[in-house]
Amino acid sequence: MPSLITFEEALELGEAEGQDAIGEIVERAWAVRQEHFGDSTDMCSLVNAKSGGCAEDCGFCAQSRYAEADTPMHAMLSPDQILEHARAAEAAGAHRFCMVTQGQGLSKRDFDSIEKGARLVAEHTNLKRCVSIGHISPTRARKLADAGVQRVHHNVETARSYYDEVTSTVRYEGRIRTIDAVRDAGLETCVGGILNLGESRRQRVEMAFELAEVNPTSVPINLLNPRAGTKFGDRDLMDPWEVVKWVAIFRLIIPEALFRLCGGRVENLDELQPLAVKAGLNGVMMGNFLTTLGAEPADDREMFEDLGLNVARQPDNGSNPRPDNREGWLDGESPRTPVDELIDSQAEANFWDPSTQLRVVKKKRRPPAYPRPAATRDESR
Ligand code: SF4
Repeated sequence: MPSLITFEEALELGEAEGQDAIGEIVERAWAVRQEHFGDSTDMCSLVNAKSGGCAEDCGFCAQSRYAEADTPMHAMLSPDQILEHARAAEAAGAHRFCMVTQGQGLSKRDFDSIEKGARLVAEHTNLKRCVSIGHISPTRARKLADAGVQRVHHNVETARSYYDEVTSTVRYEGRIRTIDAVRDAGLETCVGGILNLGESRRQRVEMAFELAEVNPTSVPINLLNPRAGTKFGDRDLMDPWEVVKWVAIFRLIIPEALFRLCGGRVENLDELQPLAVKAGLNGVMMGNFLTTLGAEPADDREMFEDLGLNVARQPDNGSNPRPDNREGWLDGESPRTPVDELIDSQAEANFWDPSTQLRVVKKKRRPPAYPRPAATRDESR
C-alpha cells in the first residue's frame, strides 16, 4: 500500500511543534492504525543469546570492539536457556520471541544452538519465533524456516545518506541482501532503525520512505539510549513529543507495517509512552533489551488496554493482524499455552536480565578509533 503522505508532506509534518500540532498528527495516525489493525496487537520480547566482543563498528553499540565502553559479554546460551527465557516472555503476555546474537555472522555451532532453541520454543510455547543474527545466507534462511522461525530481524539502522556515519564495517547493501534472502525463504521481515543518531529531519523522512520501499512485515523503532564510551554516547535523549511525532509520521508513510517500539523507549519517552502507542504502534518489546532494562509486563499491557486494544493471548499465538501470520511454518497444532495467568512483574519469571547475566569486561587495550565516514554529512535540519 502506498504511503499516505508525500515526502514533502512528511517534511512539513516533521517541522510541527507544540502539543496541539503533534496531537493532530497522532489522531491521524491512530485512525490509520485502527483502520488496518483494529484492536489487535503484536507484542514481542527478546533474549540476548550471545553478547559482546563484536568486530563491527556500529556507533551506538556498546558491544562493538571500537567502543571505549566496557564490554557487556556472555557466551552463547544453550537451547534450554533460550527456552527458559521464552517461557518468561510468554508469561508476560508477549506474542513473539526474538533470539538475538551479536555481530554479523554466526559460527556453525552457534547457528545450531539458535536452530535448536527455535525448535524448543515452537514445541513448548505458543510464541511465534523471530531471530536477529546479523547477515544471513539464502541457505541459512531456509534452515531457519525449517526450524520454525517465522520472522527475521535485520535493521537498516538509519537513512542511506547517513549510514556511513553509523557504521563502516557493516555494508548497507549486505543488509538488503540479507533481507532479500529472508523474504525468498518465505520468512517475514522485521526491518527498522534507530532515531537520534544525529540524522537530520530530512534523513528521518528518507529512512521512512526507504523502509516503505523494503516493505517489511514489521518495523521496530529504537530511540538512542546513549551509552558512555560509544560514538554517540554524548548525545542527549530525544524530546518525548518529538518521538511521538516521528512515530506518527512513520505510520503515515508505512501504513501497513507492524510498528513496535524497542530500545530506548523508557528513557526517551517516560510518561509519554501511551501517546506513542496511540501514534500508531502495534506493540512494544516487553521485558528487557539486549544490554539495558525495560518495563514491567503489567504496565506495558495496560498501555495498550487503556486504548481499547486487545493484548490477550489467543489460540493462534497471540494477535492475528495478518491472516497469513502463522501459515506454512510448522506442521501440527500449536501447543496449548502452558501459562494460565499472566505475570505482572519481571520478578515473577526468569526473564533475560542484562543486569545479572552480562559480565561487564574492561577492555585491556585502547580500542581502535571509529573509522571516519566516507560520505559527507547533510547538516540541514
Ligand atoms: S549492532 Fe550488532 S553488529 Fe553492530 S556492533 Fe553491535 S553487536 Fe556488532
